[in-house]
Amino acid sequence: MKTKVLLIYTGGTIGMVKDYETQTLKPFDFDNLLKQIPEISLIDCEIGFTSFKDPIDSSDMSSDHWVILAKMIEENYEQYDGFVILHGTDTMAYSASALSFMLNGLKKPIIFTGSQLPVGDLRTDAKENLITSIHFASLHENGRPKISEVCIYFEYKLFRANRTTKMSAENFDAFSSPDYPELGESGIHLVVHEHALRKEDSEQPFSINYAMNTELGLLKIFPGMQREFIESIMNSSNLKALIIEAFGSGNIFSFEWFKDLLRKKSQDGLIFIINTQCAAGMVELGRYETSEIFKEINAVSGYDLTTEASVCKTIHLLGQGISSHEFKILYETDLRGELSKK
Ligand code: ASP
Repeated sequence: MKTKVLLIYTGGTIGMVKDYETQTLKPFDFDNLLKQIPEISLIDCEIGFTSFKDPIDSSDMSSDHWVILAKMIEENYEQYDGFVILHGTDTMAYSASALSFMLNGLKKPIIFTGSQLPVGDLRTDAKENLITSIHFASLHENGRPKISEVCIYFEYKLFRANRTTKMSAENFDAFSSPDYPELGESGIHLVVHEHALRKEDSEQPFSINYAMNTELGLLKIFPGMQREFIESIMNSSNLKALIIEAFGSGNIFSFEWFKDLLRKKSQDGLIFIINTQCAAGMVELGRYETSEIFKEINAVSGYDLTTEASVCKTIHLLGQGISSHEFKILYETDLRGELSKK
């Protein structure tokens, strides 16, 4: 029996067309996208198609869209062996990370892809990205899907979604996974790096956890930041967690007013999550004196999480209505292969 893969189109450059009056790219309909890639019919698997009612530029994605996407997967989970999600590249790593936290007991591949040039463009990267994503999603071994996690496929490389970040607005090679090896690559052969794949607990049944809470903030620090700005961020209403992108291994300026503010806000219940603004490497609180304050207030360490995974993990865990203590324990635990510790 042929493997069945469902293609879900959400929007993004891959399906956009140029509005010649304004010279801007706009989302287009799904039929147009399929017409541009007749090669799809040559792939040796059965392909189903579905689409967002109104495809969007991924800059407009929100947690509501993640719910819509997860529902589309849930409704089709039994009928299909794998899923390919066509998505704009700008926020692909966020949506893919969010899905990785929402889906429990996943036993099938969910592969996000998109392109830097629209599918109708002569030099488009859309065809290769789409066709190879379908190939990866259809791989089987001993009657089971070979990949059972949420991935991003782009420009010959397959990545774990929640380890991936968009690092080029220009190159076809737009994504990277700075702290985790690639899961696969496409050359003359399709290669899957088995040792890097996530082994899903086979006992856990598939289910979706839709609970999310977006009452969080993200603060990237820089030398000489204004006190008023920091105070206004930390005092904003409806803020339950603040991710601080600190220097190096989690270091920050040591002004007394700043330390006092951290102590006060954390006593008030604000959860502080400390990430590094370095592209690679991890947070090590207490390694320098300049990160001692984070240890003192019992801040959560983001270790080597990408910004995208960190934001999505925060949204997911805030949604669970757990205590700050449980939040810290779960945040510092590897839930979906997103995090490593020394
Ligand atoms: N703005 C587009 C989007 O994210 C860019 C892309 O698809 O590459 O939807």
